Amino acid sequence: MLKGRNAVVTGSTSGIGEGVARALAAQGANIMLNGFGDAAAIEELRVDLAANGVQVLYNPGDLSKAEDCAALIADAEKRLGSVDVLVNNAGIQFVSPIEDFPVEKWNQIIAINLSSAFHTIRAAVPVMRKRGWGRLINMASTHGLVASTNKVAYVAAKHGIVGITKVVALELATTGITCNAICPGWVLTPLVQKQIDDRAAREKIAQKVAEHNLLAEKQPSVRFTKVSDIGGLAVFLCSDAAQNITGSMIPVDGGWTAQ
Ligand code: NAD
Repeated sequence: MLKGRNAVVTGSTSGIGEGVARALAAQGANIMLNGFGDAAAIEELRVDLAANGVQVLYNPGDLSKAEDCAALIADAEKRLGSVDVLVNNAGIQFVSPIEDFPVEKWNQIIAINLSSAFHTIRAAVPVMRKRGWGRLINMASTHGLVASTNKVAYVAAKHGIVGITKVVALELATTGITCNAICPGWVLTPLVQKQIDDRAAREKIAQKVAEHNLLAEKQPSVRFTKVSDIGGLAVFLCSDAAQNITGSMIPVDGGWTAQ
């Protein structure tokens, strides 16, 4: 379905981004990977995705830096020929009450989880306009819609992502370029595993109990979303059937935000 389309997926060396990159590549899209990690593991992922018969490249840009965000899009346009799909997914978490929240963590989360999407979209829109088609997909969170304690920077950044998504959707409404946000609840990735580990240590409980408690507190289905579920939704948003879905926040949260 996406043969001949070129996709940039930020933070695609792990977790949800990797799941989205796998799903897009399976539909025939060429992929520009980005994110941190072990060089050999990234190369293994690159080769694995290329087995779909698509071109897969890697850009190591640090998206906490505006210049790296712009350079990522320029690199994809130069080496792949265009940017048709941009998935802004790179993100980090830090958990602390506001009075102890380190200023450098606030700045880092705002830079990576929020500002990077501004910089990449700003650079990608002129490239998409040239082909009169584009799909901008921002990885927000249930925390773009509702709040939780101890996540002030993350919740602020994700609400900001929802704001960017709406503005960009309106600005591009007649162009053939859509802009939407996916709002996952709990997905079992390294980012969430760390929160489970911290909880197990803090409450002196078994990992499985910590996992259950984490889910039961927020996610009525009491089961994790899979990264492939998010990949499937990203593919749908790239399909013709989604041509008039824009400016939408789509929760994938087992009922979290229905409460
Ligand atoms: P993850 O830790 O598995 O992956 C994060 C990715 O971002 C990695 O590839 C990492 O290398 C990359 N990254 C981090 N800092 C970067 C930087 N400065 N420059 C470039 N890349 C950078 O996390 P995940 O759970 O897959 O999260 C992916 C996105 O989904 C994040 O935006 C997160 O907020 C969002 N999200 C996750 C969940 C969840 O339950 N896991 C829920 C809602 C939203």
